[in-house]
Amino acid sequence: MSEVKTGHPKGLWVLFGTEMWERFNFYGMRAILTLFLVNSLLMKEEDASLLYGGFLGLCYLTPMLGGFISDRFFGNRNCIMLGGLMMATGQLLLFFSASTFGTNLGLANSLMWIALGVIIFGNGFFKPNISSMVGSLYPKQEKSKLDTAFTIFYMGINLGAFLGQTICPYIGDVEVGGIRDVHAFKWGFLAASIAMILGTLVFFFLKNKYVVTPEGKPLGGLPSKNDASDFEEGEAQKAEFTTKSLVLALISFVALFFLFRFILDGHNFIKTLIYPIIYASGITLAGLIISDKSLTKVERDRIIVIYIVAFFVIFFWAAFEQAGSSLTFIADNQTDLNFLGWQMPPSMVQVFNGVFVFGFALPFSILWDKLRAAGKEPMSPMKQAIGLGLIALSYFIIANNVKDLGNSGLLGIKWLILLYLIQTFAELCLSPIGLSLVGKLSPKRFASLLFGVFFLSNAAGYALAGTLGSILPNTGDKFLKATELGIDLQGVLDKKIVPTAEQVDLMTKNHIAPENPVFVGFEIHNLYEFFMVFVVLTGIASIVLFSLKPLLKKLMHGVK
Ligand code: GLN
Repeated sequence: MSEVKTGHPKGLWVLFGTEMWERFNFYGMRAILTLFLVNSLLMKEEDASLLYGGFLGLCYLTPMLGGFISDRFFGNRNCIMLGGLMMATGQLLLFFSASTFGTNLGLANSLMWIALGVIIFGNGFFKPNISSMVGSLYPKQEKSKLDTAFTIFYMGINLGAFLGQTICPYIGDVEVGGIRDVHAFKWGFLAASIAMILGTLVFFFLKNKYVVTPEGKPLGGLPSKNDASDFEEGEAQKAEFTTKSLVLALISFVALFFLFRFILDGHNFIKTLIYPIIYASGITLAGLIISDKSLTKVERDRIIVIYIVAFFVIFFWAAFEQAGSSLTFIADNQTDLNFLGWQMPPSMVQVFNGVFVFGFALPFSILWDKLRAAGKEPMSPMKQAIGLGLIALSYFIIANNVKDLGNSGLLGIKWLILLYLIQTFAELCLSPIGLSLVGKLSPKRFASLLFGVFFLSNAAGYALAGTLGSILPNTGDKFLKATELGIDLQGVLDKKIVPTAEQVDLMTKNHIAPENPVFVGFEIHNLYEFFMVFVVLTGIASIVLFSLKPLLKKLMHGVK
């Protein structure tokens, strides 16, 4: 523990504080976003889930761009400032959207789209640059401290998430006399904007003094001033692709885009435009790197390990990122939110993830240290397989708890808390480990691009999360509403009753789906089946990844 107090540069705490406020802004907004879309902007839950997946996906696609622009032109510092200001502006636009929807829904909608666009690019500038600055605080001979540094940084992320997911729902997701105040969301967005401004100010005022090399030289300045001391002698510093391979990459991107567009056909433009862009960019970039002629056999093998892991990680994030969409809708519509005698706002339930990460990040890193000392530490991809297995378990438990609820029973909040606890353990097995695995396996000249591929696999996971969230069947509130309208919804869903045109109209107006959702040919009849989709997907992913152990071990060539 004394390591933590004394062994780390002060700059780490500046980055910690900056990232904490930024994640406050991001996760605070994420907590209330889908509820705002559904309740204030009157979007269907299905569309809100698709939008949420597309938004998060793009937030993890733009870091490629942010990283590139920083490396070539602006440097880390400028990109962090720019990204921070953009995100603060985006949140302010959401505040305006949430202030105007009552009088001008069209304007509120336009503001929302612009806001999310600005946040996506802001995140792209901010996120990769702040993470890479953590690494550059440590000189080459101190790189062994990086694992602890990233654990501390990960705690900053989640302290921010915790604060944001407490405060934004507390002031933004409010009930008055048992009825949701749809005008309150704006305060949540305003708080997010203020948090981002604070984060930017922390960085602006403290960077020159603390975010420096041990010799006191400023870090993350303009790229022309970088020094080459971190590279082995004779090692290429930058990946240079031939024009031929770039042209081929472009052609395959277009072909893949149309392939995914064809597979994902539907009416929603996020599904047919944004998701194909995300999937196609990930595969194209991966192909571009692996086909590079300068790679040795060992390098190529290790990159293949990164790709295999990145592929499985997709299923993890797809299941994990139900937090802000389907799980929040369930918390809102079919959960008894009584928490120690207090009615918790539904969007606040997500906070348990941040709370648990904060509480368990250090114990987990100590656990890995102990296992390592005893020679029993599992290799990184196996930790990821454990993570996938745990997330399958979390959904299995919840599936069995919703099994007997029927259409009107309420899920106890403790089951959602348990779900977030197990999912947090899963996250700690998988997320920080993934980043350091990429760091260890990448040839240096391809490191940032391979981080890009890894982030793109997160993006693909979020896009899949959007698709999966959109197959949430009607929850309890819909059945209640249908009964109020004099419609036997279960009868309609079971095709025992054919609704009249007037009833269909009423259902559409109240966002009640007249049919059960379908996923790869399977009809999802109820919440039990919905959750089992995640059990099956992540369970299979976990088993397959476990069984690949001997192959992965061979391909890693000695890296643990
Ligand atoms: N919760 C972490 C963060 O916000 C990790 C998210 C991720 O890697 N997809 O940084």
